[in-house]
Amino acid sequence: MSDPTTLAEAAPQAAEHFDVIIVGAGMSGIGGAYHLARRCPGMCFVILEAQASFGGTWISHRYPGLRSDSDLYTYGYSFKPWTGAPIATAGEILNYMSEVIEENDLGQHVRYRHSITAAAWSSERNLWTLRVTRTDTGEEVQFTSGFLWMCQGYYRHGEGYTPDWPGMDRFRGQIVHTETWPEDLEYRDRKIVVIGSGATAATLIPAIAGRSAHVTMLQRSPTYFRIGRNAIEIADELRELGVQEDWIHEIVRRKIQYEQAKFARRAFSEPEAVKQELLGQARSYLGPDYDLDAHFTPRYRPWQQRIAFIPDGDLFRAIRDGAASVVTDEIETFTETGIKLKSGGHLEADIIVSATGFHLNVLGDIGFSIDGEPLRFSDCVTYRGMMFTGVPNLVWVFGYFRASWTLRVDIVSDFVCRLLQHMHETGARKVTVALRPEDQGMALLPWADPENFNPGYLLRGLHLLPKRGDKPEWQHTQDHWADGKAFPNISLRDPAFVYE
Ligand SMILES: Cc1cc2nc3c(=O)[nH]c(=O)nc-3n(C[C@H](O)[C@H](O)[C@H](O)COP(=O)(O)OP(=O)(O)OC[C@H]3O[C@@H](n4cnc5c(N)ncnc54)[C@H](O)[C@@H]3O)c2cc1C
Repeated sequence: MSDPTTLAEAAPQAAEHFDVIIVGAGMSGIGGAYHLARRCPGMCFVILEAQASFGGTWISHRYPGLRSDSDLYTYGYSFKPWTGAPIATAGEILNYMSEVIEENDLGQHVRYRHSITAAAWSSERNLWTLRVTRTDTGEEVQFTSGFLWMCQGYYRHGEGYTPDWPGMDRFRGQIVHTETWPEDLEYRDRKIVVIGSGATAATLIPAIAGRSAHVTMLQRSPTYFRIGRNAIEIADELRELGVQEDWIHEIVRRKIQYEQAKFARRAFSEPEAVKQELLGQARSYLGPDYDLDAHFTPRYRPWQQRIAFIPDGDLFRAIRDGAASVVTDEIETFTETGIKLKSGGHLEADIIVSATGFHLNVLGDIGFSIDGEPLRFSDCVTYRGMMFTGVPNLVWVFGYFRASWTLRVDIVSDFVCRLLQHMHETGARKVTVALRPEDQGMALLPWADPENFNPGYLLRGLHLLPKRGDKPEWQHTQDHWADGKAFPNISLRDPAFVYE
């Protein structure tokens, strides 16, 4: 991160100016650009993207088997029908995004290989000034913008989180992280240990199980999985009836959201019944003698962490067929030839894969400042998980974890376009959110409630995130049903918005 505090003052006159700068060309940035171009056609905007192409998550990860664990009817945008199987490969998602870009002529708005390192707000000029490194030439360039639309995701690209296990340097094989998977990694006929039990491990393992000598999933504690067909019956039926794709898209989106909401409600109201259903699915693949208690019965309630979907049970088939196995234990130390477990056992390995998650990345690892003062986002309170007290003209798209991320992209985009139009009509050049008189004294809590949602990267980074209040306006509720109703009705004249 570069020192941003003198950036605004030092901005050379040559800085290129845009009404809006979107940070990142992943699902959020491309979705935002679509809405902005349609709804605010008079505004000039650019997307600045550090990587060489669009896709974000779907190009920065390269491990075998990379796929969505959400259905693409809801992970896809509201405005672009999804016509394939619900669970999609990274390649299919990138094709879909490239069609969105082409059909809407969005390519002209994107600058690739532009990594933003600092952002400085000047109240005198009502402008953000960005310091940007061109990763192809190394050149430092500057941009100014009236509004920043942060679509940079939530984790650091190109550097996964690997715990510091004892003895790692002794291991004579190869250690890789799924976020930095070497394209030429030879894993055929090798013994592989994958450390982790989340969606990443669950998608990687079936993809490599048949080709490697054996894959062991080493987990400290079990995770819930949902198993189902990679097909949506109603979509296939409607297609057979010749119903047009945009209708099918809308109908299937509504059905899935309805069913997800029902499932989430049940997970809270009758967690034991939901747990038994999930375990029953695993049992149907693994048979009566498999030790489900040890390997697939988590200690937490269903839905306290995201539940990965396993299409056609492929992970469980790999285990049933003996190509993969699960060990639930803790690492005592790496050895020359594998991993010694706390229980005393030893796992032999040629390759050890760390599928252990991310480094949380709050607002793109960009050094932010406001009028020369460094900004600490942890000092702010969030307005509905997208704006921050005291931070002018900035919105962040932070998606959903219990529903598809992209559902939030459409909802927030609608809000941003309304806000920009409102500011244009009223001549306001600056908007900040601030606690209203009735919010004074409200309890301020960490961004997320660890009792409710507690993946490792979030807990590790909670201290970096803005605070939430105890009212829906002042938190990211993670409830896309409630947001879907509330966001279109947010009054832009609410005293929480302070305009200048
Ligand atoms: C392997 C994997 C599978 C997933 N599957 C699902 C799923 O099935 N369903 C679901 O809902 N969610 C899933 N997620 C979560 C996923 O990250 C989001 O769904 C979504 O892709 C986030 O999109 P985004 O555009 O907000 O962020 P990202 O995809 O992270 O893209 C952000 C972009 O911003 C760029 N950027 C960041 N900082 C800067 C900077 N300083 N300057 C310039 N550019 C910058 C990055 O290079 C990147 O291209 C998955 C995540 C992973 C890692």
